[in-house]
Amino acid sequence: MTTKELLISRLNQLSEEDIASLLDAANCMEGKDTLAARPDCPYCSSHAVIRYGHKCRKQRFFCKSCGKTFVPTTHTIMSNSHFPAEAWREVISDTVHGNAIDYTAQKIGCSHQAVFDMRHKVLMALQQLPEISDVCLGEVSEFDETFVLDCYKGKGMDGSIPRGPRRHGAKAQKRGISNEYVCICTGIQRKGDAMAATVNRAKPSAKELLAIFEGHIADGTLALCDGLRSYHALPGIAECIVKDCNDPSAEDTCFYNLNTVNGFHSFIKQRYVFYRGVASKYINRYNALFSSAYRNVEGIIKRLISAVLTVTGIDYYHSNRDVRESGLLAI
Ligand SMILES: [Zn+2]
Repeated sequence: MTTKELLISRLNQLSEEDIASLLDAANCMEGKDTLAARPDCPYCSSHAVIRYGHKCRKQRFFCKSCGKTFVPTTHTIMSNSHFPAEAWREVISDTVHGNAIDYTAQKIGCSHQAVFDMRHKVLMALQQLPEISDVCLGEVSEFDETFVLDCYKGKGMDGSIPRGPRRHGAKAQKRGISNEYVCICTGIQRKGDAMAATVNRAKPSAKELLAIFEGHIADGTLALCDGLRSYHALPGIAECIVKDCNDPSAEDTCFYNLNTVNGFHSFIKQRYVFYRGVASKYINRYNALFSSAYRNVEGIIKRLISAVLTVTGIDYYHSNRDVRESGLLAI
């Protein structure tokens, strides 16, 4: 047997991974590829990866540490998406700026439904960002609640809706706060972060407020509120002082007021009117958007782009798989 024949017989015995390693080494020798240009493994963060053919017209890699294969979009929001990163950037930017879905659809040349699904993936990823999910209000913070009309947008009139249709721009049938409204509980630190969450329709009970704000109020906070008794339960979850701004004995109205939180409510209402309502079941996704966009629009766009378009510790795609079913509000 000649050396050449020996080599060929040995090559035939190589496994698929060995062949990929050899091809990889050959590519490196030709200067087609450099090790630095390869992504880290999204499963185990190892850099011991080799090129391993293609999948869906994307370069596939094989991780020598954990034995898994992946493509550059694995574990990002673009996983299994047919749209390029530029389209996702447009969706993120338009979502945070509050532009309409049809506007984005026209811009990137796809259907309303495609942008709807992309937008909701972005919103669900936004809810998971640590700066949104772990927001902590401190120093002087204002707490209040605002009410928006409930909305069954996107649901057919098939009898599953507890009321008749409402015309665009129509007002509630009943006067004052009624079960036609959904309550958004808000908290905002003066010159700091904001947060908003919905649990129910009516004014929040002490139990509901504790569930919303637990872990989100720093010790030593001065919590300003409008006199709703439920807020007096807040010291149960943090060492804070609750002050009622409507109390006639409140000395200094220049300091003891709810102007900051009222400004935040105006922003929420403005966005809500612009969207012509958002389906109430999705309202907590939009609450995350309102609270992040109120303070820093450009900052949150940059943060979202870096978090969801590149591989990070969070698997946004799999946890967000079902945009129409997971994490919905049942009210
Ligand atoms: Zn790995």
